[in-house]
Amino acid sequence: MHQSVKNILVTHEQIVARSKELGEQITNEYKNHENKPLLVALLKGSVPFLAELIKHIDLDIEYDFMDVSSYEGTESIGDIRIIKDLDRSIKNTEIILVEDIVDTGRTLETVKKLMVQKGASDVKVVTLLDKPDRRVVDITAEYVGFVIPNEFVIGFGLDFDQKFRNLPYVGVLKEEFYK
Ligand code: 5GP
Repeated sequence: MHQSVKNILVTHEQIVARSKELGEQITNEYKNHENKPLLVALLKGSVPFLAELIKHIDLDIEYDFMDVSSYEGTESIGDIRIIKDLDRSIKNTEIILVEDIVDTGRTLETVKKLMVQKGASDVKVVTLLDKPDRRVVDITAEYVGFVIPNEFVIGFGLDFDQKFRNLPYVGVLKEEFYK
């Protein structure tokens, strides 16, 4: 275990097993749809989860990336900066947003609205982690890997100061790092 990690919350084996279940569920739910969904992964944290999940989706899917950040000093919903936009039009496309963690829910709510504005016919959400205790907007992900307590976690895409994204598990960061 990395010296900055207090304890491991979700092991690599658990992530792989749960991604398989979610991939199979998505396959079953979308297999009879005329057009297959477009997975939209939010950079950078969702990359390892996207890579694991797609191995278990047995459909002709495509994926694309978006990078957004909230304007500093503002809490207002809808006021986000698009750092990288989608490469293609999503008009009449069914979207599955791929997230690393849903915390307050603000990012997802905003990006979901953006997808609808761009003409998506449906937007669902798959997230590796869900921290429901911290939610401030009423949003739920259709597919959730693991519900976790209100602790700051790192690994499997999640960073602290851009580091630790490469850890193969999800762990709680030692408090001395951010206190
Ligand atoms: P929300 O808009 O739901 O509050 O925030 C979601 C984003 O906040 C995530 O995509 C992630 O980048 C960041 N975040 C929320 N909780 C954590 C956490 O426990 N650890 C890390 N590393 N990032 C988090």
